[in-house]
Amino acid sequence: MASSLKRREQPVSRDGDQLIITPLGAGNEVGRSCVYMSFKGKTILFDCGIHPAYSGMAALPYFDEIDPSSIDVLLITHFHLDHAASLPYFLEKTTFKGRVFMTHATKAIYKLLLTDYVKVSKVSVEDMLFDEQDINRSMDKIEVIDFHQTVEVNGIKFWCYTAGHVLGAAMFMVDVAGVRVLYTGDYSREEDRHLRAAELPQFSPDLCIIESTYGVQLHQPRHIREKRFTDVIHSTISQGGRVLIPVFALGRAQELLLILDEYWSNHPDLHNIPIYYASPLAKKCMAVYQTYILSMNDRIRNQFANSNPFVFKHISPLSSIDDFRDVGPSVVMASPGGLQSGLSRQLFDMWCSDKKNSCVLPGYVVEGTLAKTIISEPKEVTLMNGLTAPLNMQVHYISFSAHADYAQTSTFLKELTPPNIILVHGEANEMMRLKQKLMTEFPDGNTKIITPKNCQSVEMYFSSDKMAKAIGRLAEKTPEVGDTVSGILVKKGFTCQIMAPDDLHVFSQLSTANVTQRITIPFSGAFGVVKHRLEKIYESVDSSTDEESGVPVLKVHDRVTVKQESEKHVSLQWPSDPISDMVSDSIVALVLNISREVPRIVVDEDAVKSEEENEKKVEKVVYALLRSLFGDVKLGENGKLVISVDGNVAQLDKLSGEVESENEGLKERVRVAFQRIRSAVKPIPLSES
Ligand code: ZN
Ligand code: ZN
Repeated sequence: MASSLKRREQPVSRDGDQLIITPLGAGNEVGRSCVYMSFKGKTILFDCGIHPAYSGMAALPYFDEIDPSSIDVLLITHFHLDHAASLPYFLEKTTFKGRVFMTHATKAIYKLLLTDYVKVSKVSVEDMLFDEQDINRSMDKIEVIDFHQTVEVNGIKFWCYTAGHVLGAAMFMVDVAGVRVLYTGDYSREEDRHLRAAELPQFSPDLCIIESTYGVQLHQPRHIREKRFTDVIHSTISQGGRVLIPVFALGRAQELLLILDEYWSNHPDLHNIPIYYASPLAKKCMAVYQTYILSMNDRIRNQFANSNPFVFKHISPLSSIDDFRDVGPSVVMASPGGLQSGLSRQLFDMWCSDKKNSCVLPGYVVEGTLAKTIISEPKEVTLMNGLTAPLNMQVHYISFSAHADYAQTSTFLKELTPPNIILVHGEANEMMRLKQKLMTEFPDGNTKIITPKNCQSVEMYFSSDKMAKAIGRLAEKTPEVGDTVSGILVKKGFTCQIMAPDDLHVFSQLSTANVTQRITIPFSGAFGVVKHRLEKIYESVDSSTDEESGVPVLKVHDRVTVKQESEKHVSLQWPSDPISDMVSDSIVALVLNISREVPRIVVDEDAVKSEEENEKKVEKVVYALLRSLFGDVKLGENGKLVISVDGNVAQLDKLSGEVESENEGLKERVRVAFQRIRSAVKPIPLSES
């Protein structure tokens, strides 16, 4: 497997190609996950969590370190509070105006969890980071992404993989200018009762930002953990005790409920012992899990074919302690998992002094919480009412938390072979041990492993040589060294392609447009004269008749179509390009010149027109032609013609043909056009026609 992923080239130092990663949270800690990334003027934020051990502003990631308005995209990996709970604050109380994405399941559960979080968090109004309205408003701003769907925002491409861990959890791969960064979030490579294992991305990233929660620890095999779990529960209730299982309301709770329900089904002697799932969210959570069964693993989907596995036979929901009759042995799974407050804490305070009772901690316990404190089995604990009580109940730590252990992390990284690894989401010591052990797994020295603290920026450089891929007919033959390849360069985001103009519509979203010019000029003479004159000047003049109107049509040089529109008008039509424009100019001049001769013949019968009058007519023709070429042509005060094009002005002396202009390009165009017009309208002796 490892060989199937090709390792990407090592980065090369170069200014301007600097990639910056800054943890705003989860740097050498577990909690308030939030990682900032910036590369080539694009900025991405991964996750937006709170620290469960703190409250109010202190629980937030270090948002002060960044300018929220500069973030293009915010990607949320999963619904856990340490990854998503500062999102309503960030969306509603900061200048953030980018786009935010998460999976469908994450969005559904996010709303449920955060609404509950606002209700149960016992903080003063000033400490409230957001209220229910903020959560509702944030829902409108959250966009959903499917697993493996590629989304592009401002040239940032990203897609996500299944991460295991909890329902809806995703790992994000971000691609900016061809440099790829994988952010794992919390992940697990082990399939459990209801979730699939995390996928191995099919591309090796340039950088992998990976969780390190379990450091170098190894999980016990699943069946051993499950047996320990059910053994502790069975023996406690057989001795008349109560079992408290503090859990996070969603995620692992569902996995443990599946284990307990199955165990009870297999042990009829336990059927008189109640199991409660005590969370204000219990019922709603069940509904959400039932909705997303199809996104779980085969095992649960097969079970679903018979009956809904989340409709438990032996478990009752309990939404408040007031509904609980504590009359004998029971098993209560209650939130929150850290025993900070709420139902789990109320039950703990009631039961902690009785040695018949047990507390089973089934997940990762966050530093700073009571759950973490009781693992070291202190003699006394402080109750919520401020009194101290002896801690006599048995405390068991049997982790079911779906985070990768050392075996999973090292295998995952070896298969992925990223040249750069950044560790986040781990306690400092655990992280250091993991770093040291991983270094022994990558002894070639080509793998950098970095463990930044919060607000500590990691800078790396990625080479981005300008490359353009030749495609279409340009790619048909391999050029020799020194050959020039010419075509149209099409730049989309950070990728460049070079292609033949004719291939443009095939390989890009761009369409080509031709500008067709059309001009109608007065002409009341015989069309045959026009044809005769044109044939004298141009080698190729094809005659035909217009299919619709039946009038004669001439095609000059295969470019310009000359048509007798009516008895008094001739029209010219041509595709605009420099040569056709020139040809059509000369035709216009020629036709106008013939017109000028015709009245001359007519008036000749009465009197001879003076040369002066003739010169006036020439002037008019020149003027008309210049207008047809440049548009804005006026007679200036000094008698010169003033020609304006796109804000540039040229002055033309009609007598000498001299042109003055600050714009060299325009000056030359006017000079050449005037010369051409003069030579075209120069009186042609009548005898010649
Ligand atoms: Zn998590
Ligand atoms: Zn986490």
